[in-house]
Amino acid sequence: MSPSQQVAIVTGGSRGIGRAISSRLADQGAAICVNYSAQAAPAEALVAELKANGTSAIAVCADVGEAEQAQALVARAAAELGPPTILVNNAGISVPGTLETFDEAALERMRRVNVNGVVNTVRAAMAGMSAQGYGRIVNIASNAAIGTALPGTTFYAATKAEVVVLTKRFALELGPAGITVNVVCPGWIVTDMTRGSASEEEFATRVAGMRERTMVGRVGAPDDIAAAVAFLASPEAGFTTAQVLTVDGGRKDYIGHG
Ligand code: NAP
Repeated sequence: MSPSQQVAIVTGGSRGIGRAISSRLADQGAAICVNYSAQAAPAEALVAELKANGTSAIAVCADVGEAEQAQALVARAAAELGPPTILVNNAGISVPGTLETFDEAALERMRRVNVNGVVNTVRAAMAGMSAQGYGRIVNIASNAAIGTALPGTTFYAATKAEVVVLTKRFALELGPAGITVNVVCPGWIVTDMTRGSASEEEFATRVAGMRERTMVGRVGAPDDIAAAVAFLASPEAGFTTAQVLTVDGGRKDYIGHG
């Protein structure tokens, strides 16, 4: 039986894809813990918007790459909203790199958030979910993890590939406790991450190039990813676990047939 009140923690839930996920889960009746690590304003603005629509919501500053902060994040959500039933590991960073430009420190920065962040929050949330015999964990990786050919994403892709394998292993470990663990691999989505510091003209050129790489002839919006997450986070998805759901508009530029 699923809990009557859903409580969702969305890491990096303040902007971009995470913001859309927070709003979507709120629309479905969940109380929302909006996590962020640096910019308070977008998180507070979203929480105000959610509350105005009748959702219980809090903003919590925590760097998920730090185990103690991840523990504190989950503890605050539980104390102020109730026992978490949904954990969406969306927080992530991308630092461009190729074999030529490899920067070990940049890889470690990415791995700390993209990989350790997932381990830390799952470890923080799993006891509470196990006690309820219910949980939905959805990780956000990238289609880079399964081999898209976008230049400059080599080491980012490696960190996201780790998220894919961790998802399957965590599903194996947590399944007996009633917890499902799945991963969504987004394609190219318009957010601060993909916009970067590009001018309007540069960004328009980038969008046009990415549009051509998809079967559906467009780039993605944060809501495209939120819709997939909403299914995997729902009580109805209880027989779906250890799955990789690619949501990339049918990208045509995969690098091989491994
Ligand atoms: P974004 O616009 O850059 O937003 C990132 C979010 O994560 C922000 O809320 C940010 O808030 C938060 N964050 C960053 N570091 C954090 C940390 N250490 N602890 C907690 N929160 C942290 O990114 P996005 O494009 O929405 O991407 C969201 C996820 O989707 C990422 O995992 C990304 O790798 C993945 N993804 C994105 C795309 C795409 O095309 N956009 C494609 C594939 C996969 P603060 O800055 O305030 O900390």
